[in-house]
Amino acid sequence: MAKNCANGGAYITAGLAGLGIISVPLAEAKPHLACDTLVLAGGAQSNALADMAGVPLEGYPMRLEAMALEPTRALIGPAVALLDRLCYMHQTARGEVVGGAEVAERPQVSLGADVPVMAATAKAYAEMFPQLGAARILRQWAGLVHISKDFGPLLGAHPQLRGLHLSAGWCYGHAGAPAAGELLAKALVSGVVDERMQPFAVDRFQRNCPVVEPGIVLSHFE
Ligand SMILES: Cc1cc2nc3c(=O)[nH]c(=O)nc-3n(C[C@H](O)[C@H](O)[C@H](O)COP(=O)(O)OP(=O)(O)OC[C@H]3O[C@@H](n4cnc5c(N)ncnc54)[C@H](O)[C@@H]3O)c2cc1C
Repeated sequence: MAKNCANGGAYITAGLAGLGIISVPLAEAKPHLACDTLVLAGGAQSNALADMAGVPLEGYPMRLEAMALEPTRALIGPAVALLDRLCYMHQTARGEVVGGAEVAERPQVSLGADVPVMAATAKAYAEMFPQLGAARILRQWAGLVHISKDFGPLLGAHPQLRGLHLSAGWCYGHAGAPAAGELLAKALVSGVVDERMQPFAVDRFQRNCPVVEPGIVLSHFE
């Protein structure tokens, strides 16, 4: 595999014999790699990487932003999702309230935090928790995610390329990764797809079987 990667213009950044994490330079010509099984988990780059493999992939890159307020006394216990305000937040052990709000600015591939998102987040925070009105913004940052049409992950075999598997489309990847990683690994090793993984199959849109994710703030975005 390492030889194939070296010949093909890609390289292994970490790995054991027969198993590795492959880095593919997107700017260069399509590398030619030979391997039996490949998991494409490129986050916001997933469409570009699927394109290199010559297969279509649902979804698009999108920017999410988060805001942290200066520490305050304990105010919020559990994490809070304000679905009608497209906002979510929680309070860290240090007392910082951290969260974000979604605004109509899609699609975006910039990592720059911006004022409309900051203002929308601050407005939602202050409306729901007026005590936060005087708190100063500690920091605001942006990151890129890969979003699918129904806001659910794309998990499992690609229907058009044998041996290519996906873990993409994650807008709640921190929450979903532990279970998804284990289920995907089991599916790869055993060839049996766990029933908990089946709803997120990559071909679900062709079968008109989108998942419904009412608990995800982003899925209320129109
Ligand atoms: C501001 C913000 C707040 C968020 N809040 C939450 C939250 O509260 N809860 C939650 O569950 N999720 C949250 N998320 C979403 C979460 O970060 C993502 O769902 C998760 O990171 C997706 O994981 P991933 O491994 O699929 O993609 P990524 O974490 O994006 O990882 C993709 C990896 O692929 C690598 N890569 C890309 N191209 C190549 C290439 N050509 N060769 C080799 N490597 C490549 C990248 O460097 C990267 O390391 C948030 C995201 C943002 C931006």
